[in-house]
Amino acid sequence: MLQKVRDFINLFTQELDEINIVANSNLERWHSFIEELGINPVTIERRNHAELTGLPIPKVAFPSEYRAVLYQLEYRTKRQVKVLQTEVEDDFDADDVLDEFVRRKLNSLTKNELKKYLNASKPAVSVLDIFANASTSLNKYSVKETGDKSYSIKCNSCGASRLEEDQYDECFYCGTPLFN
Ligand SMILES: [Zn+2]
Repeated sequence: MLQKVRDFINLFTQELDEINIVANSNLERWHSFIEELGINPVTIERRNHAELTGLPIPKVAFPSEYRAVLYQLEYRTKRQVKVLQTEVEDDFDADDVLDEFVRRKLNSLTKNELKKYLNASKPAVSVLDIFANASTSLNKYSVKETGDKSYSIKCNSCGASRLEEDQYDECFYCGTPLFN
């Protein structure tokens, strides 16, 4: 059973690696990849809109698309784990390894991978830039968006502000639900 659990985790890791490779390949490949998963690419308007707010726009996978793929993987793997758990019940070692995988990796998969992805998408900032922007850098991503609008709700994952005209309850940029 232990080997079966290890194989399962290896397969999962390979799948995650594959996602990250495609997410950094090219738009065409990424779009056909997500469309096969039933995920619609974001519109060019949404991309442009995000760019106007000053948010860093990755060249290939848009953050909300990337999150949707990760969420699917997390959801599907959790269902598979449930089945596997009933099989390994009596095998202490296998059960242990599976539990640890769920606790350390699977439970926060979407959140952690999205964070990594967003950090990698941020433009490199030089020391001079930091001094020049010392007073505004904390708020860098939200200044242009919020302006003098009467309220702002910030996304917990990426810090983007929810726009007043936004009809959605998820972040327009990374796709994280804004109200839980
Ligand atoms: Zn967000």
